[in-house]
This record gives sequence, C-alpha cells and structure tokens, in this order.
Amino acid sequence: MSRTKIFDNTEIAFQLKSDSELERAYFLFKMISLQPLVRIGTAATNFALKANLPVEGLIRSTVFDHFCGGVNEDDCLQVIDNMFDKSVSSVLDYSVEGKEAEDQFDAALHKTLEIIEFAAKKEAMPIAVFKPSGFGRLFLYEKKGEGVAFTDDEQQEWDRVVMRYHAVCRLAKEKDVEVLIDAEESWMQDAADVLVEEMMEQYNTEKPIVYNTLQTYRWDRLDYLKGLHARSKSGNFKLGMKIVRGAYMEKERERAVSMNYQSPICENKEATDSNFNSTQTYILNNLDDISLFVGTHNEESSYLAMEQMNALNILKDDNRVWFGQLYGMSDHISFNLAKAGYNVAKYVPFGPVKDVMPYLIRRAEENTSVAGQTNRELNLLKQEKKRRKV
Ligand SMILES: Cc1cc2nc3c(=O)[nH]c(=O)nc-3n(C[C@H](O)[C@H](O)[C@H](O)COP(=O)(O)OP(=O)(O)OC[C@H]3O[C@@H](n4cnc5c(N)ncnc54)[C@H](O)[C@@H]3O)c2cc1C
Repeated sequence: MSRTKIFDNTEIAFQLKSDSELERAYFLFKMISLQPLVRIGTAATNFALKANLPVEGLIRSTVFDHFCGGVNEDDCLQVIDNMFDKSVSSVLDYSVEGKEAEDQFDAALHKTLEIIEFAAKKEAMPIAVFKPSGFGRLFLYEKKGEGVAFTDDEQQEWDRVVMRYHAVCRLAKEKDVEVLIDAEESWMQDAADVLVEEMMEQYNTEKPIVYNTLQTYRWDRLDYLKGLHARSKSGNFKLGMKIVRGAYMEKERERAVSMNYQSPICENKEATDSNFNSTQTYILNNLDDISLFVGTHNEESSYLAMEQMNALNILKDDNRVWFGQLYGMSDHISFNLAKAGYNVAKYVPFGPVKDVMPYLIRRAEENTSVAGQTNRELNLLKQEKKRRKV
C-alpha cells in the first residue's frame, strides 16, 4: 500500500510560527547541529549560571523560548491556547530536575496537583505528568530496587515518596485526568515500576488513569510489558503505557562499562527501532486492556501506528491512543497528525530558567547525537522558509 506522506506538509507544521520565529528556529537548530559548539555552549552556560553572570535573558530569548512554554503555568497559557486552536493538546511538564531536598519534592508535588486541578477545567490539557526523581532521591529508588534494607530515616523518606504518588494518582482519578509517569535511569526504574504498578492496581480499576513509561532502547521491556499485562488481567486493573525510545543512552552505556555489567541498552539503533515498533504493535493489539501514549519524533513509527490503527479498525480519535511530541520539536508530526484527526498532545516544559537547564541540555545533546533528526528539522524549516519566500 502506498503511503500518503502527511508529515511533509510544512505549511500545516509551522502554521503557528511567525516568519521571525521560523528564522529563530532555523538558527537554533543550525547551532545545535554543531557538536563542539553544543559542548562549549553547555559548559559556558553552566559556568555562567553558577557564577551568577547575567545570561538568563540570552538563554530565554533563544533555547528556552523555543523548547519551553514559560517560567510558570500562566506564562504557558498562550502557547496552550494557540496549539489547541489547531487541535493539539498540551501536557504541562514542570521540568525542574536534579533536586534532592524534601521541600523541593513537596514543591514538585504541589505543582503537579495544581496542574491536575487546572487540567480538570481546561479541555486543552487532558493529561498531566511527573518524573519519579521529582518526588524522591535517585539514591533511594536505587537502594529500594536493589532490595537493600533502608535505615529508619530512609524508610520514612520512602514513605513520603509513596505518599506523593498516592496524592497525585488519587486526585487524577477524582478529576478524571490521566497522569503519565516518566521513566528515567534503569538503576532507579525497578523501584519506580513496582510503585507505579501499585498505583495502577489501585487507581486503574475502571479505566487507565495512571500511565507508566516503557523505554524501548532497553531490550527487556517487551517481556516486562507482557508480564505486567498478565498480572493486570488477573488483578483486574487496566494498564496505561507511554512508549518512548529512551533519553539516557550514553549514561546507561558508560555506567554498564564502568561497573562491568551487561548494558541494558539494545545493541544498535535498528534493534531499538524494532523493539519500539513491536511494543507499539503489542499494545495496539491489546487496546481493551492497555491504553497507549506514543511518545516519539520518529516518522516511521508514527506512520506505522497510523497504519496499524487503520488495519485494526481503531478510530483515529479513539481516546485509548494518543501521540505525543516535545514542544519545539517535530511540529510536522504533531500538527499534521492533529489535522488528520488523531489525538495529539505536546509536552510543554516550564520552570525557572536556571532549573530547567538539565532538560534543555538534554534536548541540545539529543539533537546533536541524533544527527538525522536535526537535519530533518533544518530541511523542513528551510522548505517552509522557501514556501513563504522568507
Ligand atoms: C512525548 C515524549 C515523552 C518522552 N518521555 C520520556 C521519558 O519518560 N523517558 C525517557 O527516557 N525519554 C522520554 N522521551 C524522549 C525519548 O526517549 C527519546 O529520547 C526521543 O524522543 C528520541 O527518540 P525518537 O523515538 O523520537 O526518535 P529517533 O530519533 O528515531 O530515535 C532516537 C533514539 O533511539 C535510541 N538510539 C539511538 N542510537 C542508538 C543506538 N546506537 N543503539 C540503541 N539505541 C539507539 C535512543 O533512545 C535515541 O534517543 C520522551 C519523548 C517524547 C516525544
């Protein structure tokens, strides 16, 4: 069957971008495509922020405004409304990372609860999200996952982490807002998986409210999903799964080498791609039990999902299937999918400039290491500039 390449339409892809925003995006991706520049820029920015040099304005007007909705929720409202006008929903993502203190975990909890309350009233925001490391120390997840006994203080600290998960999932269920829980480094993920499964068991009794994340660059994830699927059937609860390829590949590989264990990452990109597509196929074939959030900028996987939905007679706007991209990336997928009638939501990160730097650096590095993706963004922007005669 020949494929209609809907993602090639740059007019729809960049309909919300003014000519000057188009130029800025082009300039930005051009810079990001230069690896040494990203390395130097990252080091210089980290230094400047630590030394309190006045660089926030510069960061804001360049990378920050391209990849983030604003410094707080109100700041993001315009972006949310503009996108929803084109049928693209938003997942507000409080992207403050790398915090280790209790008051910061409580602040992240309150932010997430606020977003759920807000989302319950706003059609443009059907889904909320949080990161396991936003609610507790990585060290604690790691120790729990290894089955090492906690000290009394650590046990109390862990109890507070569990309490934060319950607070979010309980409110999400009460307000009927789905909540995605991100996946992070494999050495903390086992404990997070157990906890998220407990949440699904308790809050996904009627429908999937709580979603875990599968990183398919891990070769063990499809087997994990099949086991979880069997447990959910016997335990009578629904599954919600976001599938992504995974964002911590270099870190994972380096740790496996330095600590001399088998890397959890697939041996090459083709293996990750095939794993992603098989996981997606498995879920689409079991949609009565498992709802799907496809988090990807990969055109092939997105086309494949569309084709499989068609073959399985799944309606384009079936609420059990959502597509998601990150704000500032792959607008050609998001806006063309939405135009064609699919459910689409973009993660819209927000938070104080200094605190979202780890997120921004990951995006810059990802776009550098995945050379193909940056070139694709550049080509699409070039095509649209030409079409508009900018
Ligand atoms: C909505 C959304 C939510 C996300 N949430 C999370 C999350 O919770 N946790 C998380 O970790 N990431 C998350 N990500 C990021 C995601 O994991 C990927 O890093 C990113 O989307 C790039 O992968 P891709 O599928 O878009 O595209 P592609 O460009 O096709 O794939 C790139 C990815 O392939 C894998 N890869 C690249 N080279 C190799 C290799 N040599 N061997 C094996 N694998 C390789 C890596 O995972 C790399 O990121 C999210 C992304 C989106 C869009």
